[in-house]
Amino acid sequence: MDYLPIFLKLRDLPCLIVGGGEVAVRKLGLLLDAGAAVTVIAASAEAVIVELADRGLIRLRTKVFEATDSEGFRLIIAATDDRAVNAAVATAARRHGIPVNVVDCPDLCDFIFPAIIDRSPVLVAVSTGGASPVLARQLRTRIEACIPSRFGTLARLAADLRERVRQAIPEPRARRHFWERTLEGPAAELALQGRAEDAERVLLEAADAAARQERPAWGSVALVGAGPGDPDLLTLRALRLIQEADVIVYDRLVSAEILALARRDARRIYAGKERSRHSIPQDDINALLANLAAEGNRVVRLKGGDPFIFGRGGEEIETLMACGIPFQVVPGITAASGCAAYAGIPLTHRAHAHACVFVAGHLKDGTLQDLDWSQLVQPHQTVVVYMGLQGLPQICAELIRHGAPPSRPAALIQQGTTRDQKVLTATLETLPDKVADAGIKAPTLIIIGEVVGLRKKLAWYRSRQETEGRSGNG
Ligand code: SAH
Repeated sequence: MDYLPIFLKLRDLPCLIVGGGEVAVRKLGLLLDAGAAVTVIAASAEAVIVELADRGLIRLRTKVFEATDSEGFRLIIAATDDRAVNAAVATAARRHGIPVNVVDCPDLCDFIFPAIIDRSPVLVAVSTGGASPVLARQLRTRIEACIPSRFGTLARLAADLRERVRQAIPEPRARRHFWERTLEGPAAELALQGRAEDAERVLLEAADAAARQERPAWGSVALVGAGPGDPDLLTLRALRLIQEADVIVYDRLVSAEILALARRDARRIYAGKERSRHSIPQDDINALLANLAAEGNRVVRLKGGDPFIFGRGGEEIETLMACGIPFQVVPGITAASGCAAYAGIPLTHRAHAHACVFVAGHLKDGTLQDLDWSQLVQPHQTVVVYMGLQGLPQICAELIRHGAPPSRPAALIQQGTTRDQKVLTATLETLPDKVADAGIKAPTLIIIGEVVGLRKKLAWYRSRQETEGRSGNG
């Protein structure tokens, strides 16, 4: 180890920054976050520094640095753009035995700044010992992604209730088990949602139950949107909940790559829906979720896209609400957003479309659902049809019959955002035949409107087929 990582308490302690430029401003921010009493010495200082001084939050001395200026400080940072001045600051600091950091000059530093992940009171510091600041920042980005943004709330909750839990569960081993379970359980989940009061109540109930050596009702359900296919499009919360789940109840549209993110010992239950072959009837799914949670499981109900867009999410939580089971809904990227982005077709555009409508185009007993065709044929909007592959010929025919120009651009996107994405572009008149000839596989999404023409300029994503050199479509 070239450096010892430590966390320094600087609250109200006198610290000095020499220099008044951008670098000084950044370091100043860090010292102020740590509550230090900062003095800045600079011949000239950025406006933010002057303003902080005017507000009395720091002390600013507008002067050239002299060796005697360093006396009495606990920490010094040299952040001027003049190497000679920086070296003089380092020499003076060392003479007084004060730890010094010289920006961009590791040889003169007594200490270095790590890349910081701040979930106060939880702090993670990353350092490469000066080897590569960029690498440190990249590592920080990865760590940022796996620590929920409200992790600090959880830590504060644990701190606040530590004593009460100690009294409730005096035996140390039982108490450790309690914390291990609790910090990954429903109380923690509530804290991470920012519901600190609910979290406290649930945690104390659990502590009481543990004291009585009962098993509390741990169960909960998260209705999670898995996005359109590409696992990178999961939200951070979706990823965390998938990794923590005891049981995952998933749909056909959820990709194998996403399921693979679950714990190895998590139960996986397939709930359908194949077109015209609903694997589990909706009522049974609703009941299944409630029962699994009542048994004490952390259940993730994983759905393609967004659970509240053609996903029956509303029906599923209605049952949970009626049963008093704790739940949350985690939005996902809906197929329209995912497919549009990966196909290079903006859903709105100042010149072409000022509105965007999502409709369900599935057939029931061979006929289309009632749709408001006169509204759907209006110009300057984009119509996105979910579940429209079987009904495509009827949909195009109805739009034309209700006055849409047969030449209106239309696209069909197969397995959008995945490596097997395929995009066919045509017009309302020609799309059905083009699709019939192309050997298309579900799921597919249809986008209708002028914006489809933008794909010529904006297509950026390359599917497996395209990268392997065969010609793309559309
Ligand atoms: N809740 C989902 C939609 C469920 S309905 C969402 O928000 O995306 C199922 C329909 O979604 C499919 O018939 C298809 O029209 C569309 N769909 C979902 N994923 C898709 C994908 N990767 N590519 C194209 N269409 C998709």
